[in-house]
Amino acid sequence: MTRHLFVTTALPYANGAFHVGHIMEYIQADIWVRFQRMRGNRVHFVCADDAHGAPIMLKAESEGISPEMLVARIAAERPQYLNGFHISFDNWYSTHSPENELLSQDIYRRLEREGLIYRKPVEQFYDSVKGMFLPDRYIKGECPNCGAKDQYGDACEVCSSVYAPTDLKNPYSTISGSAPVLRTSDHYFFKLSDPRCTAFLQDWISRDRLQSQVANKAREWLDGEGDRALGDWDISRDAPYFGIPIPDAPGKYFYVWLDAPVGYLASLKNYFESGRAAAAGEARGFEDFLSAPDTEQIHFIGKDIIYFHTLFWPAMMKFAGAPYRIPDSVHVHGFITVSGEKMSKSRGTGLSPLRYLELSMNAEWLRYYIAAKLNANVEDVDFNPDDFVARVNSDLVGKYVNIASRAANFITRHFEGRLAYAGGTAAMLAESAQAAEAAAASYEAREFGKAIRDVMAIADSINHAFDANQPWLLAKDPGRRAELQDVCSRALYGFKLLTVLLAPVLPDVARRVAREFFGLDRDFAWQDAAVLPESVAPYAHLLTRVDPKQLDALFEPATASTSEPTPAAPAAKASRAAAKSEAPAQAALISIDDFSKVDLRVARIVQAEAVDGAEKLIRLTLDLGGERRTVFAGIKSAYAPESLVNRLTVMVANLAPRKMKFGISEGMVLAASGDGSGLYLLAPDSGAEPGMKIR
Ligand SMILES: [Zn+2]
Repeated sequence: MTRHLFVTTALPYANGAFHVGHIMEYIQADIWVRFQRMRGNRVHFVCADDAHGAPIMLKAESEGISPEMLVARIAAERPQYLNGFHISFDNWYSTHSPENELLSQDIYRRLEREGLIYRKPVEQFYDSVKGMFLPDRYIKGECPNCGAKDQYGDACEVCSSVYAPTDLKNPYSTISGSAPVLRTSDHYFFKLSDPRCTAFLQDWISRDRLQSQVANKAREWLDGEGDRALGDWDISRDAPYFGIPIPDAPGKYFYVWLDAPVGYLASLKNYFESGRAAAAGEARGFEDFLSAPDTEQIHFIGKDIIYFHTLFWPAMMKFAGAPYRIPDSVHVHGFITVSGEKMSKSRGTGLSPLRYLELSMNAEWLRYYIAAKLNANVEDVDFNPDDFVARVNSDLVGKYVNIASRAANFITRHFEGRLAYAGGTAAMLAESAQAAEAAAASYEAREFGKAIRDVMAIADSINHAFDANQPWLLAKDPGRRAELQDVCSRALYGFKLLTVLLAPVLPDVARRVAREFFGLDRDFAWQDAAVLPESVAPYAHLLTRVDPKQLDALFEPATASTSEPTPAAPAAKASRAAAKSEAPAQAALISIDDFSKVDLRVARIVQAEAVDGAEKLIRLTLDLGGERRTVFAGIKSAYAPESLVNRLTVMVANLAPRKMKFGISEGMVLAASGDGSGLYLLAPDSGAEPGMKIR
């Protein structure tokens, strides 16, 4: 029976490039989707950019462009990653789309009719300089509990206490630096605490559609009492906001988290209405497909967004009613760490997927490595460079690819590519069919690591049988040709079996093996695992080994900045060195392209403090128009920290972060200096705003 699957990955926020965490999720979902397609199931695999919300609005503003332009620029970068890592989405769309507006407003109206929407006044911090209500992440101040400075509006990083932004002492807006004022405004709420919602969710969670860890987490939230009781959900934001207007509520927009998951449906609708679903054999329209009883709606997400996907999203879908569909399953994965260190979400230090591709590293190495480490639990996956080299070189190339190159050479040389099997093959085929079903069960359950382990065990036994028959000796004896042909044919059938079982992970290798090596006019389907091939083409190179030097290059930025034992003050270092050196007064000429590699930005110093134990350093907190950076600058000899607060200066925004004794420095501020002791921080002319580019 053909399954009809609607599969999504979490929508990435469209204010920056993909990091390796995104790529890991896409690889996980893509392997599952490709497996389903090979089994003959029909899959519609979609995603979209999550385009709305205050961070995108403010970032666009700081660059002097519209949010639409920012989102379009980010969207234009997506294909090089998706194509580069062989991610086979059927559609990539945007939440800033007519489909999403229509669906979000429709769902809202249906929830309103169900009596699940209400309005109530909310007192909130307002930045009267900027003219907008402040999201929690744009408010900082002193911790009400321990007094630590510069803490975010929701929790203290020093003493870990949790509080409301209104509890902060001496709060300030990180956008304008001004002191925010409390102002009241009406907000719209989704009544998640309604007994109908909680009863539905209790039932939904108990239906075995979630991993047990995820179901337990969701149940914990549902069963919370007192302070931890399930609250209603504030779904509105006041203008100015980049989002979808709430019907009949002038100046109110949907909070980005309401319309983001609806973006799954918007992307699917766009895919259907563009005719591409029909071209792929889907006879039904969007609504018929979505509401059909045999459709399965499956979401792949990270563990950080369980709350939205196991509470709000199913409840929204349930009470919006047909054609909307309650998710059939939510598959949750952990984070990816690099050598045990967690990736930073905003700036993925460590493994850059773009750099990986730019270094011409093979995408299928990473797909294979990630597959080998993934299971169905919510566990973090660690990328370890030595382990990566070992698994790719000794397993993937050493065990799997080598079978083809060794056996095919005999077949080409002595048998013109023809394969022949002596004696019975029934037992071998029965064993293969069993192995294929076991692998299928592992893929279906997202136990990819198990699938890979089993496949490599089969590769071991194929290599073992091949070596035990000593084909190099058989080849020397003209009387034993039939035996040689049989031994090599069985090995090459084994290679075909392995290729089919690895095809969801290695789509490009599998395509070449199917078409070029075995001469098929199509890609492999799962049932090809139990079909004996009759001929092969001469072996052509399939996959190279990893050169460990490529990994050195991949992690270069991080190692370069930590290799200097005592960090000199970043500020003014270059100019001082130049002034003191014997080098000619004029530096070597560079092209405009060289210059444009340096991302210079206007930054506002929102905080400046002396650093304990560092005579020359000031720790600066810089605002880049919504984004915050910490920079250690060697300017204490010339400036008292408090004199710097609120000044605008110029920073290098794309300098690789460097780890210093006192913390991580995330850029460099510019200062002028001569032979004397004076040091002069650069400042833009008045009117410049944080985040502006200098060019
Ligand atoms: Zn505190």
